[in-house]
Amino acid sequence: MSGTNTSQNSNRGSRGQGGGFRKGPGGQKRPGGFRRQGGFRRREEPKTDMLALWVPKTDLGRKVANGQVTNIDEVLLRGEKILEPEIIDKLLPELHDELLKLGTTQRTTDSGRKMKFRAVVVVGDGHGHVGIGSGKSDEARPAIENAVKTAKRNIILVPFGCGSWECGCGTKHSLPVEVTGKCGSVKVTLRPAPRGVGIVGNSIVKKVLAKAGLNDIWSTAKGHTSTKYNTAIAVYDALKRLSNMQSHRDWSEE
Ligand SMILES: [Zn+2]
Repeated sequence: MSGTNTSQNSNRGSRGQGGGFRKGPGGQKRPGGFRRQGGFRRREEPKTDMLALWVPKTDLGRKVANGQVTNIDEVLLRGEKILEPEIIDKLLPELHDELLKLGTTQRTTDSGRKMKFRAVVVVGDGHGHVGIGSGKSDEARPAIENAVKTAKRNIILVPFGCGSWECGCGTKHSLPVEVTGKCGSVKVTLRPAPRGVGIVGNSIVKKVLAKAGLNDIWSTAKGHTSTKYNTAIAVYDALKRLSNMQSHRDWSEE
């Protein structure tokens, strides 16, 4: 590939063609017809057919394909790397995805300018499984599909609990403890909230936590939270820390 990649950031003032998702200078309305925040629905893929064609490339993939491994939580608690999205398709068929951001970058080639799309997607089943991924492509749809695949490979198991001393109901509607995650300049802290509070936070925090299936959380976000990708990853990082603690604890107890 020849040419240079210009980042979305440095490019935001130029002509506004295609548009990104950021506000233009002076807070003007954002251009571009690719804004589809949330609620993005792909055509339902015939998952079973796709899985029938799957030729596993990893050891874990083969075990999942032939039915030796049927429980994703065992895999996740062991801390095994999931390299094939089909593993998730097979073991977590109830997964939903949501587009968090679709941005564009421009590349200058010999034949002119070329647009490249970058998508950030969250996947989750509402029962503690959640993943985030980003993907790039010359077209929007493949960028989103790549992001979904990456998000599936990044799936973690979030431990639920009732960590709020004001609540103490003991059901699994929140997180067991407070936790903080970071990405770039963004720092997100998630605190267990009493039942009925809901998810208190910005829209990205809400979307990621809702995909995980958490009901009641107080959150604070610091830094450049307008960078949706960093914000989403900071939330994911916080949940991943809890997830890692859980897998270590569970294995030492068994
Ligand atoms: Zn509670």
